[in-house]
Amino acid sequence: MIKAFSERIVREIRGTVLRSELMARHTSLRVGGPADWFVVPTDTDDLQSLLTLLGEYEIPFLVVGGGYNLLVRDGGIRGCVISLERLNLLEREGDCMVQAGAGVENGALVRFCRKEGLSGLEFLVGIPGRLGGALAMNAGAGGGEITDSLETLVTLKDRTLTKREKSQLVFGYRFLILEQGEIVIKAAFRLTKADPSVIGGRIAGFLEKRRITQQVGYPNAGSFFKNPAEGPAWHFIDGAGLRGLRIGGAEVSTIHANFLVNRGEASAADFLALAARVKETVREHYGVELQEEVIIVGEDRKR
Ligand SMILES: Cc1cc2nc3c(=O)[nH]c(=O)nc-3n(C[C@H](O)[C@H](O)[C@H](O)COP(=O)(O)OP(=O)(O)OC[C@H]3O[C@@H](n4cnc5c(N)ncnc54)[C@H](O)[C@@H]3O)c2cc1C
Repeated sequence: MIKAFSERIVREIRGTVLRSELMARHTSLRVGGPADWFVVPTDTDDLQSLLTLLGEYEIPFLVVGGGYNLLVRDGGIRGCVISLERLNLLEREGDCMVQAGAGVENGALVRFCRKEGLSGLEFLVGIPGRLGGALAMNAGAGGGEITDSLETLVTLKDRTLTKREKSQLVFGYRFLILEQGEIVIKAAFRLTKADPSVIGGRIAGFLEKRRITQQVGYPNAGSFFKNPAEGPAWHFIDGAGLRGLRIGGAEVSTIHANFLVNRGEASAADFLALAARVKETVREHYGVELQEEVIIVGEDRKR
């Protein structure tokens, strides 16, 4: 059965099909074991064919963006990882709308909007990743969130494309509720007209703020924990004396206490052990429960 699937996926999918692909190559933490399959469909039709094939063989799948918020365990991912990087539609619609595909890089979207003289998404400039990931996480910075200017969202589930208005969606701090197996395909944003030089100034401001606070020097996934209701996560991690704590190759950054960094040879197990230690120590010191912002997937390495 696996042989039949292997033959068909190569024959029927037009995009890139990789076998036993190390996820460490596709995550900003640079850890993670192999995905059985790693596929980059050429377009939505190709994605539909892939999903049909996976369904036929009952093979599970995980859609990823840029892997900037992803911790993949050392045993890797059983099933198929799907990258939508080729769904890169990017166009202006009418006076103030922009349509973008799930695979568009946040930086490219920001540059496009500046060129078009459309303001509202500048804060995205320093958030690495692709639009699908930004929407799935409701990414945000500097008081803005990607859902602020969202008008409509198109998703794919069970071979059906559905377009929803923002008012039909449920989202909040670093989450957008999607159904199991629901894939973000594209979105439309309503923006406001502004002079490109003014937009450029805002972009520069966001970049400068990041340069000062987030140049941690080692691979990372941005904020590892969500900010709890009690205050910023870094404050509790720092206050509990955890800055610089290291387990294996994973370290609490000395520059930004809510960034866990890969000092070179870290494994996913190192990050998981460090995260558990951080949570336990913060709980003991402050009675505060930290929750991971980073999405943890895959299975542990078999002994
Ligand atoms: C240096 C640095 C700074 C950062 N700063 C910020 C910040 O200021 N604010 C912030 O919010 N985040 C920040 N992040 C985290 C990260 O950049 C964001 O969460 C980003 O939106 C993740 O996008 P991605 O494409 O890499 O998604 P991934 O990490 O690949 O995926 C994240 C989640 O989205 C799901 N997903 C991805 N694409 C789709 C899709 N098409 N359909 C359905 N589900 C999908 C994945 O399955 C996964 O669950 C930072 C990260 C780094 C490394």
